[in-house]
Amino acid sequence: AFKAILITRDEATKVQSVGYATLDDADLMEGDVTVRVERSTVNYKDGLAVTGKAPVVRRFPMVPGVDAVGVVESSESHLFKPGDRVLLNGWGVGEVHLGAWAERARWKSDWLIPLPVGFSPDEAMAIGTAGYAAMRAVLALERHDIKPGAGPVLVTGAAGGLGSIAVALLADLGHHVVASTGRPEEADYLKGLGAAEIIPRSELAGPPKALGKERWIGAVDVVGGETLANLLSMIRYDGAVAACGMAGSLQLPATVAPFILRGVTLYGIDSVYVPKPARLAAWDRLDRDLDRSKLAGMTRRIGMHEVIEAARQIVEGKVRGRLVVEIG
Ligand code: NAP
Repeated sequence: AFKAILITRDEATKVQSVGYATLDDADLMEGDVTVRVERSTVNYKDGLAVTGKAPVVRRFPMVPGVDAVGVVESSESHLFKPGDRVLLNGWGVGEVHLGAWAERARWKSDWLIPLPVGFSPDEAMAIGTAGYAAMRAVLALERHDIKPGAGPVLVTGAAGGLGSIAVALLADLGHHVVASTGRPEEADYLKGLGAAEIIPRSELAGPPKALGKERWIGAVDVVGGETLANLLSMIRYDGAVAACGMAGSLQLPATVAPFILRGVTLYGIDSVYVPKPARLAAWDRLDRDLDRSKLAGMTRRIGMHEVIEAARQIVEGKVRGRLVVEIG
């Protein structure tokens, strides 16, 4: 038997609840590798799953947790053997397949990669899906040939998890980073990560204009909604935006004016179903580019007994930086 966080749903009322449970191996889902989970994290999506605020969970009961580091206990795959340390991000775990907030899990070997040698289990989960998506967003801006010195780059939701890592990565690559936050009290924190300017999130709120003053050559957005529409209207000629999130809204109340009059490009960032080679490439760049002391400075470690409350707080925008969850 092993401990887990479990989301259940009353099929008559469709009301879901979450709590601590004891499971055994018969509860595990299909897969060819059984893993003793050591660390996980809390992403915004885990908050959506736990609160039921969005239909992230598509199978009940569900163990939430979309990220894991653990040790292989048994394997029917030639790719992994008992004792190997593995890393998992996405692939629908915590959504359609039992996730990481449990002491044991059975997953498909195709979903796992060896824990990159440059990272401890804590560091890998401090990065997690949020950091890995931040890296993919930075790679999208690079592919667009936005070089340091080309102009200011905006990061929204900057004090959150994805935002904090995006600020650190972009600043260390030499970009002039403008951090947008609704928490002015986090200005020193954001400057510590490398932000050159802080702007209040209210500057990007309200009904968007078709075009505004050209301000940023690139942007990493986690907010969506009017924020994304507003910032698109203020991207400089030939600039690009990486749309990563919906912490504000899933809507995009924008016009095509930035695209057809300024040649602006909007890139979409996914992290769940990224093929293995691109996944490994992003982790490799994180290994090379992410300052470990900045990562440690934005991360807090919590226990399994705190994770449900943390999941509720993240959807309220109350978590700063990243959380690592000690499992077991
Ligand atoms: P997080 O730590 O909660 O960060 C979100 C931040 O957005 C908050 O800290 C807050 O930053 C800001 N925010 C929250 N509510 C807002 C609102 N109503 N209006 C404006 N700003 C608001 O969450 P996260 O884990 O970094 O995830 C951020 C978003 O990215 C989520 O939507 C998540 O689903 C998405 N995401 C996408 C991928 C992908 O692959 N595409 C991967 C990971 C996450 P300030 O307090 O600084 O304003």
